[in-house]
Amino acid sequence: MNITLNGQTCWAKPGETVLNVARREGVNIPTLCHMSNFSPTGSCRICTVEVENGNSLVPSCAYPVYENMVVRTNSPRVRRARKTIIELLVANHPQDCLFCVRSGNCELQKLTQEYGVRTHRYQGERRRARIDIASPAIERDPEKCILCGRCVRICHESQQVGAIDFVHRGFKSSVAPALERSLNTVPCIDCGQCVVNCPVGALTEKSHQKQVWEAINNTDMLVVAQVAPAIRVALGEEFGTDDGAVVTGKTVSALRRIGFDRVFDTNFSADLTIIEEATELMHRLEKGGPTPMLTSCSPGWVKYLEHYYPDLLNNLSSCKSPHEMQGALLKTYYAKKIGVDPSQIYVVSVMPCTAKKYEAQRPELGGEYPDVDAVITTRELARMIRAAGIDFHKLPNQGFDDPLGESTGAGAIFGAAGGVMEAAIRTAHYYLTGGTDMKSLTFSPMRGLEGVKQAEVTIGEQTLRVAAVSGLTNVKALLDDIRAGISPFHFIEVMACPGGCVNGGGQPQPATPEKLLKRTESIYQIDRESPRRNSHRNESVQQLYTEFLGEPGSHCAHELLHTHYVERDEF
Ligand code: SF4
Ligand code: SF4
Ligand code: SF4
Repeated sequence: MNITLNGQTCWAKPGETVLNVARREGVNIPTLCHMSNFSPTGSCRICTVEVENGNSLVPSCAYPVYENMVVRTNSPRVRRARKTIIELLVANHPQDCLFCVRSGNCELQKLTQEYGVRTHRYQGERRRARIDIASPAIERDPEKCILCGRCVRICHESQQVGAIDFVHRGFKSSVAPALERSLNTVPCIDCGQCVVNCPVGALTEKSHQKQVWEAINNTDMLVVAQVAPAIRVALGEEFGTDDGAVVTGKTVSALRRIGFDRVFDTNFSADLTIIEEATELMHRLEKGGPTPMLTSCSPGWVKYLEHYYPDLLNNLSSCKSPHEMQGALLKTYYAKKIGVDPSQIYVVSVMPCTAKKYEAQRPELGGEYPDVDAVITTRELARMIRAAGIDFHKLPNQGFDDPLGESTGAGAIFGAAGGVMEAAIRTAHYYLTGGTDMKSLTFSPMRGLEGVKQAEVTIGEQTLRVAAVSGLTNVKALLDDIRAGISPFHFIEVMACPGGCVNGGGQPQPATPEKLLKRTESIYQIDRESPRRNSHRNESVQQLYTEFLGEPGSHCAHELLHTHYVERDEF
């Protein structure tokens, strides 16, 4: 059908919303509540447009087109209406921009500028609420909440957790956990998907920047950074690069200029994870289970299983997540190698993930010392780079330190959903064929942004049925099949965040499908361009086994690289 949009004729499909058509035509309509791939709610009304035939103002995100519709998106009436809505939001807002972590990247602040809101036209009582800082990963400031509902939708629809929801009505409406308790007292999995999708500063990660600066300034400490696979394809966005630009070398040199004594690569321990996990899988297949084995590198997913499917904890791989493995090795293998007491090593993980903050303080992860001392997100690293006065664009490209800095393309693809499975299949092939690498290393059934990917792969005598899932809504049916004893799979990768770590809760905001796609493409580009693309070909990992761990799955490897899980009836 044809419609007229700001005087131009354009085509539209029946059932499409005005907002979708406008975006396709390159017309920007602002919105605070809309989320691509979610059903519209029309709650913020900022996307108001004028429809001539009905002579009315309608929310474009929820309004379907019809034949010969005439729409104006930028008329004086539309701009006045939007400005009034913004003024009303601001009237019930702390206006705390000087101290707010989102200042400069806040969607409400941006709209006040764009619509010329310069005075307080509406004044009156403001909603009051206490800040919730009890969670180890997420902080909530309900006074800054504009009730857009994005967090509620992502937590319920995408993660199927439902840790937060709308409470009360009218002026008292707010978004909170049940009974307005703290987030750490409900089964929140700390994934941070609510944070990365919040348009304002109402939800943020629990910052570890202060303790990291203190450690850096303590000359008695050797402060070591490790960088997750998904950081290098997202950090640049904080400094205005193209979405998904690969900035590995600049990330390393930024960390050195900030003051880190060593910079290592979590991709190294992603390779190590593959060796340990493939060994564990072989062992389970030989011993008759329990299968399917479930991956354990996504701490939000692990917490989800502990809360909701504790009867399946034995299906979870006992491997620690890669950054925890790296931390454990830094305080044992590396400490011994360089002759430094582990008490003087401070490990900082730079992660795309807020759940890693919670994970790092789990008592199961560490011995005398925690494996990891602090976790900073991509966003926090960007803030530290700015605070240090570093011009990101002028940074030279530098390489990681040795020996925990070498990695293969298989380690790199951990950053994308399906990547762990693809990397595992490469190494499983090597093990099951007695030492032959796959001819074609790209395993396309595990690529792409679908929430559930399944495949069957025959290696030698063995046929493996595998799946990769991201976004926890997608995992429920598979877990119910395991419970019922009818799962056809041997091995399932699960990532809590939709699309995997490239779309983690600690990544640059706003989260958009376009950014997710670009970051994912860049992850596979790193793999393609890597001189080695099989985890078992990582020479530093081979050296680690020879010098320190012994065989994959050895007693020493189990002591340092594996863990156990707990049923969570309390939170
Ligand atoms: S949420 Fe946005 S508008 Fe509100 S105080 Fe923070 S920066 Fe300012
Ligand atoms: S961190 Fe995840 S589980 Fe917790 S409230 Fe946010 S979206 Fe829900
Ligand atoms: S906390 Fe953020 S995402 Fe959730 S409703 Fe409030 S403003 Fe929207």
